[in-house]
Amino acid sequence: MFKAFLIKYAEIGVKGKNRDLFEEALARQIKYALKRCEGEFAVRRTRGRVYIDVLSDYDYEETVENLKTVCGISSICPMVELEDEGFEKLCRDAVDYLDAQYPDKHITFKVNARRARKNYPVESMEINALVGEKVLEAFPEIRVDVHHPDVMLYIEVREKIYMYSIEIPGPGGMPVGTNGKAMLLLSGGIDSPVAGFMVAKRGVKIDAVYFHAPPYTSERAKQKVVDLARLVARYSGPIYLHVINFTEIQLAIYEKCPHDELTIIMRRYMMRIAEEIAKKTECLGLVTGESIGQVASQTMQSLAVTNEVCTLPVFRPCIGLDKQEIVEISEKIGTYETSILPFEDCCTIFVAKHPVTKPNLEVIKRHEGNLADCIGEMLERALETDELIIVEA
Ligand code: ATP
Ligand code: MG
Repeated sequence: MFKAFLIKYAEIGVKGKNRDLFEEALARQIKYALKRCEGEFAVRRTRGRVYIDVLSDYDYEETVENLKTVCGISSICPMVELEDEGFEKLCRDAVDYLDAQYPDKHITFKVNARRARKNYPVESMEINALVGEKVLEAFPEIRVDVHHPDVMLYIEVREKIYMYSIEIPGPGGMPVGTNGKAMLLLSGGIDSPVAGFMVAKRGVKIDAVYFHAPPYTSERAKQKVVDLARLVARYSGPIYLHVINFTEIQLAIYEKCPHDELTIIMRRYMMRIAEEIAKKTECLGLVTGESIGQVASQTMQSLAVTNEVCTLPVFRPCIGLDKQEIVEISEKIGTYETSILPFEDCCTIFVAKHPVTKPNLEVIKRHEGNLADCIGEMLERALETDELIIVEA
């Protein structure tokens, strides 16, 4: 029954030229989401609004599900499209629409008409009043409430006539591509996919890097990361995933540094490598799934020591969230089930029983000095292992 969608976006302050770029990016991301859906669609921008016309048979549920992944959409309004066959017919159509959508008529409503085509013979205010009357006549239980109606029936008169009353919430935020690009450190856990989603939601395109440590981490662990990237790509668009072989560096750290400092030193090398790749790929910052105090390597002291090797800004969108809050977001975006699959990651294999929780930067630097004669070459070799996987949703 719905042959078109009105797409509403919420960000205030997108004006002038920025608004154009914003809408362009929104339309691009909508097309990307619709590629995953059966059917033929056209995305149209007119007078500061974005519409989707449905041009063939399609699956309504599937289409709405996919549109819900488009960052920047505040709501999705499925619309009924009608030929203009006179005002009488419009009134009957409005009655039929409400009848079909709201089987239980114990509701309040209000008509909100907009006459975009000024040669239509009935003015907006009149449409509101006259359609309202017809609805009241047709359904005795229904009431008008002009302030807080249960149902706001929008009628848009253009070349054709559009009617809608349903608003399905989208993810909000800004369309990906309106805010530069960042490099996500993507592990197989719960937090980093959520972090990736959260920056994508603010319009940031993401590339990702995964540190793989074969044979200590399995192919299945790597596949899990690719699967997570694919789930995040529903929101962020295609992700260029760099897989770096980290085994040599990890073993060297294990051999030459105190075991209670392994994680923190390892994290510092991950950041260094991620930053190298980020700079080569025009990323403006790094993104991690860290949250204050979640584990030993995420105390304030540890975060400060990890951060010290970076010159690019490091964004940590989960920083103030409790684990449960992160889990809730991961469930909402559909990454949770994959994240909890039990494949080891390189951090879980080389963890110490009692990792430092208050690392001292000078001490850490001194112990990193144990690697001085080999680490330069190892970092180069690690960068050479870069396997690029382009992950599409
Ligand atoms: P996550 O749930 O994202 O794995 P975590 O709570 O397990 O996070 P850590 O393992 O300490 O936390 O990792 C902190 C952050 O470091 C991760 O959120 C991720 O951004 C990055 N990270 C950790 N391990 C890897 C890895 N093997 N490859 C890429 N990034 C990683
Ligand atoms: Mg992890």
